[in-house]
Amino acid sequence: MKKFIGYGKQWIDKDDLREVAEVLKSDFLTQGPKVEEFERALCRQTGAKYAVAVANGTAALHLAVLALQIKQGSEGITSPNTFVASSNALVYGGLKPVFADIDERTYNIDPKEIKKKVTAKTKLVIPVHFAGQSADMKEISKISKVKKLFVIEDASHSIGSRYEDGSRVGSCKYSDLTTFSFHPVKTITAGEGGAIMTNDKKLYERLLLLRTHGITKDPKQLSQDPGPWYYEMKSLGFNYRLNDIQCALGLSQLKKLNKFIKRRRAIVDRYNKAFSKLENITTPHEKGGLKSCFHLYVVKINFSKIKLTRTELVNKLKQAGIGTQVHYIPVHLQPYYRKAFGYKKGDYPVAEKYYQQCLSLPLYPKMTDGDVQRVVSRVTRYLSEV
Ligand SMILES: *Cc1c(COP(=O)(O)O)cnc(C)c1O
Repeated sequence: MKKFIGYGKQWIDKDDLREVAEVLKSDFLTQGPKVEEFERALCRQTGAKYAVAVANGTAALHLAVLALQIKQGSEGITSPNTFVASSNALVYGGLKPVFADIDERTYNIDPKEIKKKVTAKTKLVIPVHFAGQSADMKEISKISKVKKLFVIEDASHSIGSRYEDGSRVGSCKYSDLTTFSFHPVKTITAGEGGAIMTNDKKLYERLLLLRTHGITKDPKQLSQDPGPWYYEMKSLGFNYRLNDIQCALGLSQLKKLNKFIKRRRAIVDRYNKAFSKLENITTPHEKGGLKSCFHLYVVKINFSKIKLTRTELVNKLKQAGIGTQVHYIPVHLQPYYRKAFGYKKGDYPVAEKYYQQCLSLPLYPKMTDGDVQRVVSRVTRYLSEV
């Protein structure tokens, strides 16, 4: 039996093991020196002033929304082509989730559609940098300035990516806050983990409080200071901390980010070259060229022109030891969103049509050229059958 090639996978090496073992042998398993070290490294990586490491990417989005202190009942706009966490964060914050349809070439939220969805109640927009390619942030930040909207970038897919102007995703050049996820399937991992980047000191301080129950021990923030045991709870926060074990892994992985991205891109080039000879398949469109970290390799397949349905193709590939995934089922069509907010089929036609045709093929840095060739030959064979 040949080894199974999943659609995504972490790469853990000896350095990672050593770094994690060092923490396990040290005095602090959590809230020791590794948390701040990881946060400083994220600031260096992105160019943002502040980083707050948290338990996962969803917690990062949740706290980012809360830190903005937006009035309950306001509206927030995000992409229907995302993981449910992006829009759930709006709901956690008491905002009505509104979607803006996607661009049919980049599969990212379309700024023109954002404009159409803005009402007097809209206060926030959460663009998602799908598959690693940044959304059109120049345009989105322009709209948000005119309409007075906050912007949170969901950069769960895109640590190491660049905007069209060459600056780094995570710098918050075009937003108030940017969030990352370090789930094992993402570009670098901390086991589970997330982070929020910002250049705004006030937001940063609110995030620190929210991450740990709203509690502070900072003498400057206390209303009295009777002794070293004393702390005050200033707001209703959570336990969303990331521990030193995870931060040590994140730090070690961050050192390899460039190497990972280079390998991802090399695989993408192989795929693109091989599939350019095929009909009925659309390879990823990279706007502005060579800026995506390529978290995912998503193709569109014209299933009406080939012999197989998507389900049949997915099953055949699976039998051949090749894993695929569908990113994403449009969020507005999830039963919860239909029921709670009245969304229905037809509301976001571009995202819905895209969903019918998309398929994520295996892409992770540890794939060998042989693995890539196996995927190419199977996909080529199944798409060529008539
Ligand atoms: C993975 C992901 C998240 C959530 O991250 P977790 O770390 O799994 O909580 C949010 N948004 C998008 C677009 C993601 O891909």
